[in-house]
Amino acid sequence: MAKAMMTLTALRFADSADELSRLDAVAGDGDHGVNMAASFGEAVVRITTDQPSTAADVFNLVGQAFSEGGGGSAGALFGAYFTKVGQRLGEASNPVSADFAESLMLGALRVSELGRSALGDKTMIDALQPAAVAAETTANAGGGIHAVLTAAAVAARLGAESTIQMVARSGRARYSNIGAVGTADPGARSVTVLFDSWEEAMEKELQNEA
Ligand code: ADP
Ligand code: MG
Repeated sequence: MAKAMMTLTALRFADSADELSRLDAVAGDGDHGVNMAASFGEAVVRITTDQPSTAADVFNLVGQAFSEGGGGSAGALFGAYFTKVGQRLGEASNPVSADFAESLMLGALRVSELGRSALGDKTMIDALQPAAVAAETTANAGGGIHAVLTAAAVAARLGAESTIQMVARSGRARYSNIGAVGTADPGARSVTVLFDSWEEAMEKELQNEA
């Protein structure tokens, strides 16, 4: 399942690359969409070559592709995110929704720590953190992986929308004179592409089983 999730995510980032780079061009250097699509493309190459057998190994390979790909600040931060998620998933022999939700929270905390960024700074954190909170709430209420992914996707979308009115305090966008007010943060928008793709892959899987 994790392999199918990442393959679909790579396709969706290829579809969204232009739009994400246009967002980044408003206050950054306009490379975000290209960076994300390239790193996910590389991740799929590694997954196809290595054929990892666990979700943890799939996430670790995606983390490596991002960290080694040199794709801007977001590349390093998403690399740390996926690696942390993979590390936490690897601690469970058969990860369940609560493990996944906790891995998302640890990943978001790692990005916050590395990027020295908090909620409200107009970064990917504004989507990653609410997605992790929604995932944990849903898993604690007994929700399975599908419910967890749906909750995370909805929260990520709301979080990314909330960045439109924020003044950038982190990343390159903070140097723009208006702090990119009126434009969503590209990294936060990428988080919505991520969770939307995972949810879509999960729904396709459920249709195949039905
Ligand atoms: P670069 O800024 O190096 O060109 P990208 O354009 O790929 O990298 O990514 C920009 C995105 O990275 C921003 O929209 C933001 O979400 C995220 N980002 C940048 N710096 C930080 C940081 N210190 N903490 C959290 N996220 C950050
Ligand atoms: Mg950029």
